[in-house]
Amino acid sequence: MSIRRILIYPDPVLTTPAKQVKFPLTDELRELISDMAETMYDAPGVGLAAPQVGVSLRLAITDTIWRNEDNKGTDTRDLKVWINPEIIWHSEETSVFEEGCLSVPETYEEVERPAAVRVRWQDEHGTRLEADFEGFMATALQHEFDHLDGKLFVDYLSPLKRRMIIKRMKKRFGAGG
Ligand SMILES: [Zn+2]
Repeated sequence: MSIRRILIYPDPVLTTPAKQVKFPLTDELRELISDMAETMYDAPGVGLAAPQVGVSLRLAITDTIWRNEDNKGTDTRDLKVWINPEIIWHSEETSVFEEGCLSVPETYEEVERPAAVRVRWQDEHGTRLEADFEGFMATALQHEFDHLDGKLFVDYLSPLKRRMIIKRMKKRFGAGG
């Protein structure tokens, strides 16, 4: 396992739609998943999508438990792997969470999204799964799956705000070339 470098917005890989993952997973892809987990926990973050480490595939991981307030002082983990995920239904009702992103460091903004979603995805064995999510998990999944379409949470902000963020990223991190 190793920690991979996280691309910083507006790196072009982050704004490119990612390709479907094919099964069975190769050893290289299994290694990518464990490296992504190590990278996410090290960062630290609650989610990471493959394009963020420069791999343009429809694959993301989350762990919304381990940094939860209720989990303070424990080391409970709940790593989830989402392969070829799709949001097949979302609620009309929305909720607002303050979002951040490992590819947009030191930037936190409120984003309004559907409060509940139904997700269809594949696990590491290629098994098709479907489930409903709400609350912070629903937001986290929408944020991660957006990455697979080349979309970031800053795309929900005003053009002015986004331009300021890009300027700051370039200045602070030399991002995007
Ligand atoms: Zn993100």
